Amino acid sequence: MNQNVPSWIDLHLHSTASDGELSPADLVAAVAAAGVKVMALTDHDSVAGLAPARTACAVLGLQLVNGVEISCRREALDVHVVGLGIDPDHPALTEHLGVQMARRAARAQVINTRLVKEGIPDLLEAASAGAPQGIPARPHFARALVAAGVCKDEKDAFGKYLALGKPAYVKMDWPGLEEAIGWIREAGGVAVLAHPHRYKLTRTKLDLLLRHFRDAGGSAVEVAVANQEATSVQQLADFCSRYGLHASKGSDYHGPSMRWVQPGKMPPLPSRCQPVWSLLGIQEPNN
Ligand code: AMP
Ligand code: MN
Ligand code: MN
Ligand code: MN
Repeated sequence: MNQNVPSWIDLHLHSTASDGELSPADLVAAVAAAGVKVMALTDHDSVAGLAPARTACAVLGLQLVNGVEISCRREALDVHVVGLGIDPDHPALTEHLGVQMARRAARAQVINTRLVKEGIPDLLEAASAGAPQGIPARPHFARALVAAGVCKDEKDAFGKYLALGKPAYVKMDWPGLEEAIGWIREAGGVAVLAHPHRYKLTRTKLDLLLRHFRDAGGSAVEVAVANQEATSVQQLADFCSRYGLHASKGSDYHGPSMRWVQPGKMPPLPSRCQPVWSLLGIQEPNN
């Protein structure tokens, strides 16, 4: 059982500037229609959607928080760190994100080669067609596999080819957790550990990750994401209290095809949490 409820704030959202299905303007419209008043656009390793999102937010009366979701590593684990309140024009951040995109471009070639080895037609062009800067992420390959009739849906494409341990999974040389947190802080932002439950860690390993994240300069943890179990929300809230971390919430909405995720819908934050938006100078409206 999950307790998704409509929220006035959603601090984790994707557009076509990374692997989302909606353009920044269409995403903002969907978020506004859900009743959200404050949103962060947090595309993977890209800030390219922020300018058009800002324009759309101004028209619809939403407040936009500049965000990004950076792929990094801690030991063998791929971890995502969301930066909130960043300066998207910060030169060092822009340069690091450029390197991330170059890594993604190189990986796309390898993914395609691996798929061809599996007897699948060359899908690089198809996967690149809908991708930002023509650089496909794994979901773009998943969509191309579905369009080519190889897989029945995106989940099937990940399960058969793209997920960890599958033939077209490519281990990445992402930057370390400390580096990603450093980039965000240097650009004036607050570092938030994204969707901790999705790393499928034991309690002990989750504890170690959160402690390391805090020691490395992280400020907050996503305590509530869409469809998260109530027990896991409570567990993360306890960890936040223990380590003095603030709490964030976001749907991680990628577009209408994942019908079980809606913008602005996630469990509420437990009242003992210190909300991350207080660090961003944002107050909850009292109506
Ligand atoms: P990438 O950043 O290119 O490695 O792709 C990771 C993205 O793929 C995530 O942000 C999700 O949007 C999506 N994803 C990861 N695992 C799955 C899965 N099992 N099924 C569907 N989408 C997934
Ligand atoms: Mn994604
Ligand atoms: Mn993520
Ligand atoms: Mn995300």
